[in-house]
Amino acid sequence: MFYAEIRHADSMLPYRDFGADSSGAYHRSILATVPDAMIVIDAAGDILSFSAAAATMFGYREAELVGQNVRLLMPGPDRDRHDAYMQRYLETGEAHIIGIGRITTARRRDGSNFPIELAIGDAETPGGRVFTGFIRDLTERQATERRLQDLQGELTHISRISAMGSLASALAHELNQPLTAIASYMEGARSLLKSPPDPETLEMIDDALAEAAAQSLRAGEIVRRLRDFIARGESEKRVASLRQLVAEAAALALIGTGPAVIDVETHLDATADAVLVDRIQIQQVLLNLIRNAVEALARRPRRRLEVTSRAGPAGQVTVTVADSGAGIAPEIAVHLFEPFRTSKADGMGLGLSISRTIVEAHGGRLWQQASDLGGAAFCFTLPLAEDAIDDG
Ligand code: ADP
Repeated sequence: MFYAEIRHADSMLPYRDFGADSSGAYHRSILATVPDAMIVIDAAGDILSFSAAAATMFGYREAELVGQNVRLLMPGPDRDRHDAYMQRYLETGEAHIIGIGRITTARRRDGSNFPIELAIGDAETPGGRVFTGFIRDLTERQATERRLQDLQGELTHISRISAMGSLASALAHELNQPLTAIASYMEGARSLLKSPPDPETLEMIDDALAEAAAQSLRAGEIVRRLRDFIARGESEKRVASLRQLVAEAAALALIGTGPAVIDVETHLDATADAVLVDRIQIQQVLLNLIRNAVEALARRPRRRLEVTSRAGPAGQVTVTVADSGAGIAPEIAVHLFEPFRTSKADGMGLGLSISRTIVEAHGGRLWQQASDLGGAAFCFTLPLAEDAIDDG
């Protein structure tokens, strides 16, 4: 194999021609102007030429790279294995990266590593076999994706806290009931202690104390639900009972609904109860949908709210929250799942967009359709779990 080393005074790039002289100037002009990082190596892995963008990306001066083995641009373990990779390809023609492209890691001159997308093509030239690599720096893209993920997590958390804000007064009210009951049982027990301790009085004191204990457990349960709901925590998928998730979310959603009594009718498919989900997140989806339905029923003559589930194909269950409200307002319908679209004076318009994100993060879909009950229906799918329930 013979390579003529050519270096033009006006060329920015060192360049070893590999045969066809006539294409040299053309090749050089491409390398100087192509916005992508591009590196050409020979069958031994030695760098023949590279684009100006590649030199900048890796932090090398042009003259430093030509003739060096391309290993220089890789961190371990690829650095040590690259010769073997090339050998295997040349002997077997079995492509692991050539013509496929992959996300991998590259190394700058200063020793720092960065994520790249690498696509390689190979060609026979009069001067021998050459490989051309196109490299895209993913640092920025990955940082953006991470920022978006953080933001999403933050939004989910904020919307939960904001939902909590509106639930807080209702919860305070709910907590007040067991606390008032405890106080009056205690007062009763104290006044009974002032009378002579006959067996009947003692039994009444015992009953009052037992009631007080039960009420304080009830208060504790309300606080636990609240804490579970607001706790941040990483997404953790476990096997959970859909029936239990619906029951808990409906209980939370109905708190403080005012004088209008609304029952949540449930028709849950018993053969599709165990789902693999992040319990708190799916509870939030159910809570958003049920609260939206409850709000849609305010001041309606007929108030029906139904949660149904049905096993679907491909190991999924479809959950539907349907109401007999007025349906989706036409001006909202086209933007339904977009954030900050709301028809409510105190709405944030985040519930549906966050719910959709959560469902999609579980590999499912969330959509809206007309409800048999006359109003809106929101349906979403969740993955079924094969194992038994393990979260109680
Ligand atoms: P928010 O509840 O804060 O307004 P959402 O994202 O939960 O935000 O809902 C956006 C809008 O979609 C609501 O303001 C409402 O107009 C409409 N919507 C959602 N659910 C229903 C429903 N069950 N019936 C009628 N309209 C609904």
